[in-house]
Amino acid sequence: MHVDFFKHSLGSEEKQAVALSLNDPFLTTGKTVERFENLFSDYIGCSFSLGVTSCTHAMELALRALEIGPGDEVITTPQTFVATTLAVLAVGATPVWVDVETTTGNIDIANVEKAITKCTKAILPVHLYGNMCDIRSISKLAKKYNLMVIEDAAHALESKRDGICVGELSDCACFSFYTTKSITCGEGGAVTTNNQELYKKMKILRSHGIDRDAFTRYGTTSSFDLSHVGMKCNMSNIQAAILIPQMKKIEENRDRRENVCSIYRKNLSGLKNVGLFPELSNNKSGCHLFPIFVLPHKRDLIRKKLKEAGIETAVNYRSINTLSVFLNLFNKGEGTYPKSEKIGDRCISLPLYPSMEKDKIDYVCEKLIEVLS
Ligand SMILES: *Cc1c(COP(=O)(O)O)cnc(C)c1O
Repeated sequence: MHVDFFKHSLGSEEKQAVALSLNDPFLTTGKTVERFENLFSDYIGCSFSLGVTSCTHAMELALRALEIGPGDEVITTPQTFVATTLAVLAVGATPVWVDVETTTGNIDIANVEKAITKCTKAILPVHLYGNMCDIRSISKLAKKYNLMVIEDAAHALESKRDGICVGELSDCACFSFYTTKSITCGEGGAVTTNNQELYKKMKILRSHGIDRDAFTRYGTTSSFDLSHVGMKCNMSNIQAAILIPQMKKIEENRDRRENVCSIYRKNLSGLKNVGLFPELSNNKSGCHLFPIFVLPHKRDLIRKKLKEAGIETAVNYRSINTLSVFLNLFNKGEGTYPKSEKIGDRCISLPLYPSMEKDKIDYVCEKLIEVLS
């Protein structure tokens, strides 16, 4: 049997939508993107959304719009995909990592407060695996010290905690529509905000810093002025067309992934040499990944044996302070962030996608138990 790590759920509706989008001569950011943005804002429950080319660019766009740059510090987590820190570096600011909670892998609020200096401008938390971080406390802390909050919500499209949704308490929330995410157009992203000024600024910065984008100029003879030094990260109508039909399936697909997770949990909890994160109360997880934790010196061998049995897995994530470019830049080697590194050395993400069949889930559990014994 072969078990993919992830399989998207795109079908005839999405294919038809792409075909239709190609009939329109206007392929870049236009009416279709606007339609997607409205649907996305409604789903998130925020005032404004902008479609962009990736979550990485969404974070960079938010940081630029908030005028965070050289000399500024952004407090974030080493237990994440590299993009979170790369976005901070892209604007010339300094990422300041703090260690995470052992039970969630999310940024530890106590460490955040200790890391605040007079140069700190923002907090950039990640909702790891789909479990929201303590955004209420982060937001309180940010108010106390006059800091901005940008959420890396790449795992957390559907997440809620204590009745708070992603994007609700922060300045901006950033989403990914990369291949393995809840909704996807291959590559893509979005940034949301409830601040109209910030929205307007990000909209300009999204298209080079030009005050009127191609769609506004289309069919007119008017020329443009450049008002800001911007980026080029606007979503195309083709990407938006693929995303729109997926919007109405978000919850159903999340529930299907939750079902897969609960079967894993039932079959794997209590096993010797396998750790699971506890289920959290007052938390609606995005169920983006299902990590298990094994003995660090056995991890790579376990993955190899699962691969031989046809089962694809992933590591989400090696603590990014241990990656070579960051080691060279910041010299925060092994031992600097023990909790993040502990997760990074032990984690294996199991296959997880909405259409995963019961026999495949059982097969993964069966093989895993076999490999572990
Ligand atoms: C996928 C991911 C990103 C990057 O998303 P892109 O759309 O590929 O730029 C950033 N942060 C986290 C936590 C992710 O999982």
